[in-house]
Amino acid sequence: MKAAVLYEFDKDMVIEEVRLADPKDREVLLRITAAGVCHSDLSTAHGKGNVQLPTILGHEATAVVERVGPGTSRVKKGDSVVLSWAPACGACFFCRAGFPTSCEVCGAAGAAGGLWDGTSRLSLPSGERISTFACQSSFAEYAVMPETGCVPIPASVSRPVAALVGCAVTTGFGAAVNDAKVRPGDSVAIWGLGGVGLSALMGAKLSGAEIIVAVDVNPKKEAVARRFGATHFVNPKAEGDVPGAIKGLTKGRGADATFDCIGKSVVFEQAFDSVRAGGTIVVVGQAAKGEAFRIPSGRNLMAAQKRIIGSHYGGGVPEQDFLRILGLYGNGKLDLDALIGKTIPLEGINDAFRELDAGIDTRTVITFA
Ligand SMILES: [Zn+2]
Ligand SMILES: [Zn+2]
Repeated sequence: MKAAVLYEFDKDMVIEEVRLADPKDREVLLRITAAGVCHSDLSTAHGKGNVQLPTILGHEATAVVERVGPGTSRVKKGDSVVLSWAPACGACFFCRAGFPTSCEVCGAAGAAGGLWDGTSRLSLPSGERISTFACQSSFAEYAVMPETGCVPIPASVSRPVAALVGCAVTTGFGAAVNDAKVRPGDSVAIWGLGGVGLSALMGAKLSGAEIIVAVDVNPKKEAVARRFGATHFVNPKAEGDVPGAIKGLTKGRGADATFDCIGKSVVFEQAFDSVRAGGTIVVVGQAAKGEAFRIPSGRNLMAAQKRIIGSHYGGGVPEQDFLRILGLYGNGKLDLDALIGKTIPLEGINDAFRELDAGIDTRTVITFA
């Protein structure tokens, strides 16, 4: 099959033929139909994640089930599915404790660059192993992954939209709805208006937030953010004192919840200082390896009783949230079509990465014939 192979960080991926082994126990063979180009793919391609090379990126996709391995019970041949990048085992401590996105088996698989048993189904024609990314590696015509990562959806749902629900939308929407638990009348501020930030914005708006401040250094994001329901826009490059500006919009107190959808210490500090006493700072953005967040001592965590929450894949059960979000989309309550930019063939992937680096404001989605 054809796939985009990453051999070196900061270098173009190579589109070429690779091998994919048969699905093992509780695994399925999938024909990929759409795959979004997400910031986590980009930061991994820049060497900021933990992957072994060569690898095939891609973790936000839809597919059709082509064949099922032994012991599979949740999907069948021909199903249209959204893929999760955290296919949980269902049996470990964290799965049973209600934190499936911290599944120990899936976590170990990701660290090993393989599937649940640690081995990868992907290899080069020479036989050299290609590590699997996020149990998925969907920048390819086909993938093999555990059945628990495959969520059946109606075949009529837009594939690019459903692909985004597989990562960015669920991550951002859940950060607002499951983690911050935004309530009617709340004020929120969101840093970084990419796919995740805009989805957090939509989640906050749907939950009834009254003041929604979008914060981004790219002035082009103002129009996009306002289209999705932002009531205010703050550009840190133009506004020296971002927390001051947000307090000015929230009766001097600060926002009820703030969202760092970028994962940088400077952003975290602004989000920390911009939240009211007793408010919630939600860290959604993936920080680069070695990046440390400082809690400013003068603006005390303890005395102000602020709550800092790490948000991973929307903080709920992603496979259930996929269907909840697609239901809201189907009822016209979430305008997910507006997130989609270009659809391109796999061959355009390196240009898509360059555009994402340059700050494109909509999601590019690879579609397969
Ligand atoms: Zn992603
Ligand atoms: Zn588990």
